Amino acid sequence: MTDRILMSQAQVSEVEERYVLDALRSGWVAPLGPHVDAFEREVAERVGVDHALALSSGTAALHLALLHLGARPGTKVVLSSMTFAATANAVVYTGAEPVFVDGVADDGNVDPELMLTAVRTLQAEGETVVAAIPVDLFGRAVDYSVLEPGLADLGVPLLEDAAEALGAHVGGRAAGSFGTAAALSFNGNKIMTTSGGGMLLSNDAELVDHARKLSTQSREPVPWYEHTEVGYNYRLSNVLAALGRGQLERLDGMIERRRAIRDRYVDALGDLRVRFPGRDAAGRADDGDNCWLTTMVVDQTVVEERRSGLETTPADKIVDTMSAADIEVRHLWKPMHLQPVFAHCRAFTTGVSEDLFRRGVTLPSGPALTDDQIDRVIDHLTRVLTTAE
Ligand SMILES: *Cc1c(COP(=O)(O)O)cnc(C)c1O
Repeated sequence: MTDRILMSQAQVSEVEERYVLDALRSGWVAPLGPHVDAFEREVAERVGVDHALALSSGTAALHLALLHLGARPGTKVVLSSMTFAATANAVVYTGAEPVFVDGVADDGNVDPELMLTAVRTLQAEGETVVAAIPVDLFGRAVDYSVLEPGLADLGVPLLEDAAEALGAHVGGRAAGSFGTAAALSFNGNKIMTTSGGGMLLSNDAELVDHARKLSTQSREPVPWYEHTEVGYNYRLSNVLAALGRGQLERLDGMIERRRAIRDRYVDALGDLRVRFPGRDAAGRADDGDNCWLTTMVVDQTVVEERRSGLETTPADKIVDTMSAADIEVRHLWKPMHLQPVFAHCRAFTTGVSEDLFRRGVTLPSGPALTDDQIDRVIDHLTRVLTTAE
């Protein structure tokens, strides 16, 4: 173990040990079993949707939902540009073309009006848009009040990428409950983990049944191996589902700890040259946020004093300085329309997500961090934010 302070380390306890041991002792060490079924029921209930399908990753959940919605060569999928590459990769797996949409200045979540404009523009050009994927970034749900009815009017299914947002809510509804279907991730660094895993959520039984079949190599329900479409090996192991049930039991406590960590950062740094997304004009927090990662947007002035000729952004400066102090701070997701692999794709941009990428960082936020560790992070950040270069 090192002394390095990490951004989002998983935390497991005796609760998880008990569940995993039960799975092992039961003999259900396959990608099916009672813990898989129970995990699906419990997450569906928590989010308030009818059906859930436990999968080997969040990427798999996005992939299968897109296949069901008709994504294939010749179709388009509109999605948030500021996101983890998995969202765009899942689109490309199907042969559909991703079309990226910029975010709003506060938190980088997709700009709802711009997303609707992108869909309208593509439809007017005669393109088939099979889905729109807004991403709930860093644990903050998108504002769906305009987007959900707007996409419904345009006849485009909304696929919510809630990989980072389990436990978050907006407008009285849980992240993962919006639109036609939603994807969750239980990767090692997410708000809760199965070490690796994901889930597809929907109120549409047909969608989830089809995805279930696709996830088990598309076996037809006959006594021999019969296949009428190409399938995938995407189911979640019963052992990992047991781990997930333990994590789910402790989810609220882990969110509470992440929220307390965010509040410490805001209290200590809020008056310096930074802003924390998701706060109203009076500085009050939006408590629909699950606080997966505390994000911080740094003023441009933090690098203004630097000698000319050195191309560096405020985010670079924070990440580099903190790294030298053995503290892991990361850039926000680099927008997909700026990624070499997606440079040829169409994008509806405003410059907002590019600016956020230059100035935004995520801070150590894991529930296992001690108060002393947070103080160390705050000390170093205060120094960078108050000293001129
Ligand atoms: C983590 C993540 C995913 C992918 O989840 P995996 O379980 O790692 O496949 C998809 N979208 C976003 C926004 C994510 O952060």
